[in-house]
Amino acid sequence: MNFDPDAFKEFFPLFAQPENRDLIYLDNAATTQKPRAVIEAVTDFYLHSNANTHRSSHRLARRATEMVERVRRQAAVFLNAASPREVIFCRGATEALNLLAYSLCSGLRPGDEIVISTAEHHANIVPWQMMAQRHGLTLRYVPHIAGIPEFQRLHEVLNERTRIVSLTGGSNALGLRPDLEGIARQLRGCRSRGRELHWIVDGAQLAAHETVDVQSIGCDFFVCSAHKFYGPSGIGLLYGRESLLRRMPPWQGGGEMIATVDLHSSDYADLPHRFEAGTSPLAAIAGLGAALEFLADRDRAAMAAHEQSLLARLHREIAELPGVRLISEPKQNLGILAFVPENGSATDLVHWLDEKDIAVRVGHHCAQPLIRAAGETATLRASLAAYNTADDVERFIESLRDYLSASETVPEQVALSSTAG
Ligand code: PMP
Repeated sequence: MNFDPDAFKEFFPLFAQPENRDLIYLDNAATTQKPRAVIEAVTDFYLHSNANTHRSSHRLARRATEMVERVRRQAAVFLNAASPREVIFCRGATEALNLLAYSLCSGLRPGDEIVISTAEHHANIVPWQMMAQRHGLTLRYVPHIAGIPEFQRLHEVLNERTRIVSLTGGSNALGLRPDLEGIARQLRGCRSRGRELHWIVDGAQLAAHETVDVQSIGCDFFVCSAHKFYGPSGIGLLYGRESLLRRMPPWQGGGEMIATVDLHSSDYADLPHRFEAGTSPLAAIAGLGAALEFLADRDRAAMAAHEQSLLARLHREIAELPGVRLISEPKQNLGILAFVPENGSATDLVHWLDEKDIAVRVGHHCAQPLIRAAGETATLRASLAAYNTADDVERFIESLRDYLSASETVPEQVALSSTAG
């Protein structure tokens, strides 16, 4: 494998700061660190190009407009969308899913059905619940065992009332990456009986670890957040098939999304602007452009293979530690290890690791139905990015071993010292 994680890590200035020299950052499913090129693109925008887009015609405004449309073209390449008109900028996966829920459900009839899964992030549950209540729709779940969806049984919950299927491309709590081809096959079966339904992929985690090709996936919509794939926060992408986006009502109203406004009605702008009301986060879009360029210059397959080898090692070694209950599986996993300590609390353990400069996360990870079905209220999650090294993994496992052996002998002392700092 021709991937050097140490060399890759050098692109990320945060790790070079004196206070972070010993940091082991294993919270990448929450957000990744940013390469220098991304940080500089954000700063450069404010230093050299700051102006609002589309509205004015002076030099800076034109430059900002060109930048936004260039990044849109880059994003279309990143997703392999058929056209930049199919790429809508939004705040992130959450906003994209809310837009889809609002716009798609406004055309549904009471009794129509939406299918999601127990492995969804709250961003792909709550908007559908809200729309189900508002429009009298029925929310169905892919059959599951103890919260783990059996995506191969999706067809069991599809029927003539199914209108929307919105499923994760990778769970942020467990890393579980569904077989998207299998899902596509089952949906084809349903559509071949003449039913119109729309398939949304929540790609917030997927886009961080795999090359995305919306055309070969065959989905109707795909959402992701730049901050999960080395880009800035505050900007994300919604891909939608052009023929569908054209028929959908806009979500937010305001400037930029109109063609003409009269006293009692308005005509909307063409795609993609009709879904982008108001001023976009322009500096974040500049940063997204830099992140897309950064990724386009890398061997993403080699990055993923490196992450997978670290993940396999984490699962192998942690499975052997006494006093740990593994929740995640190493197979079909985007780079996430989830477990709970059998003695003591996961929260204490995370604070203790924090004191050792190891950043992992504890909680329900915005996936309460899944974590609850696993019989837990909180799990400990270590999530990988390509700048993690074998040394990171080793130090994490060693620290965990120390904690567990100490908590086996003197649990109270460990608990006390862990809450002190
Ligand atoms: N879906 C998944 C699978 C996620 O991991 C996240 C972020 N944790 C989201 C949706 C929401 O993304 P954001 O908070 O960036 O809008």
